[in-house]
Amino acid sequence: DFHPLSDTVQPVFETVLQRSPNEPEFQQAVHEVLGTISPALEQHPEYVDGGILERIVEPERQIMFRVPWIDDAGKIQVNRGYRIQFSSVLGPYKGGLRFHPSVNLSIIKFLGFEQIFKNALTGQGIGGAKGGSDFDPHGRSDGEIMRFCQSFMSELYRHLGEHTDVPAGDIGVGAREIGYLFGSYRKITNRHESGMFTGKGTGWGGAEVRTEATGYGAVFFAQEMLAVHNETFAGKRVGISGSGNVAIYAIQKATQLGATAVTASDSSGYVVDDAGIDLDLLRQIKEVERARIVEYAKRRPSARFVEGGSVWDVPVDIAVPSATQNEVSLADAEALVANGVRAVSEGANMPCVPDAVAAFQNAGVLFAPGKAANAGGVATSALEMSQNASRQRWTFGDSENKLREIMRDIHTAAFDAAEKYGVPGDYVAGANIAGFQRVAAAMLAQGV
Ligand code: GLU
Repeated sequence: DFHPLSDTVQPVFETVLQRSPNEPEFQQAVHEVLGTISPALEQHPEYVDGGILERIVEPERQIMFRVPWIDDAGKIQVNRGYRIQFSSVLGPYKGGLRFHPSVNLSIIKFLGFEQIFKNALTGQGIGGAKGGSDFDPHGRSDGEIMRFCQSFMSELYRHLGEHTDVPAGDIGVGAREIGYLFGSYRKITNRHESGMFTGKGTGWGGAEVRTEATGYGAVFFAQEMLAVHNETFAGKRVGISGSGNVAIYAIQKATQLGATAVTASDSSGYVVDDAGIDLDLLRQIKEVERARIVEYAKRRPSARFVEGGSVWDVPVDIAVPSATQNEVSLADAEALVANGVRAVSEGANMPCVPDAVAAFQNAGVLFAPGKAANAGGVATSALEMSQNASRQRWTFGDSENKLREIMRDIHTAAFDAAEKYGVPGDYVAGANIAGFQRVAAAMLAQGV
């Protein structure tokens, strides 16, 4: 049993199992946190006495709603919308919206739970939330996307606001969707409330570097882990899964740092390009044409497409899983280890199954959990909120420097907590302990 539960936390986990029997991803995320914070609980009995654990695993508010819309054929479609407002103790609820057919209550709750600690780690004064819908944007026209977003917002708007709850994008929610969602909110409320959504277009309140931030941040975090061992990205082969916003900018930053990013993937398969992924081509295919990844290999002589299969069979020095939860299996981790992987930085949320994480850590691979490694996205969202509140616009360079500084601070917080609580080099425990302590201290101060 990886991360066995102590007698103190076991009853809390039992309650979660009882209340949420059909929510495996949520149980997985809770188990990992409860299984790693014991050293901090032993030194801080006030967290246990203050009921922090019982409270933190139960969302403050869970919203589920009907989203009816009319498709291009005139047919009425119905999806389900979610917003899980998990914790507002450190700031307004903050976290993305995911539009994907796999979305269900378990997935949104696991993401919302992770967001609490991730957001705490950024040090930016933001609470934790997540939302989305089982709507599948794939193959839908712009008109259908807009009508869906308008219907989604006609219910959710009443729960949002710059001091209440501030959504952003996630899988399936990019610049186009954020535009329609923000526009709906503006029309319904008669308020151009910039700070109620982040990831906006840079022409209407969006922040520089927000688009790049998650991918850049995951690479910056890996850079920090490597630096501890006097290593860099220069000359390394980097394996990246996914081909969305996180993957694209992880590829860009790794390449800028002198590495060769050799893979990208989508649900149909993956491409290997030993010459290094051509980012303009990848963006053309995924962002402009919204086509499948096989197109990349068709137009790029140095690349080949592998249908199905696992992108983690490709030998790399550094891996940045940037697709989705539980995409890296134990077998994948073993293949990466056998091929000599040095560092793994989770660009997605919880992309590695618990056994895979154990395999990396047991093999001495530097492993960065998503809570820490992909926090650059939401951290830059908080910078967007600051700029909106002060009506300022920061330059790309200043914003990127700020992001780099935040990622360095997160690395330090996780690294130091791991040292202090007797699990040196364990970034999973370190990040959980550091994030948890910030939330727990605020909960104690603010009362039950
Ligand atoms: N969806 C991203 C995340 O998981 C960004 C959230 C945000 O910017 O609010 O952190």
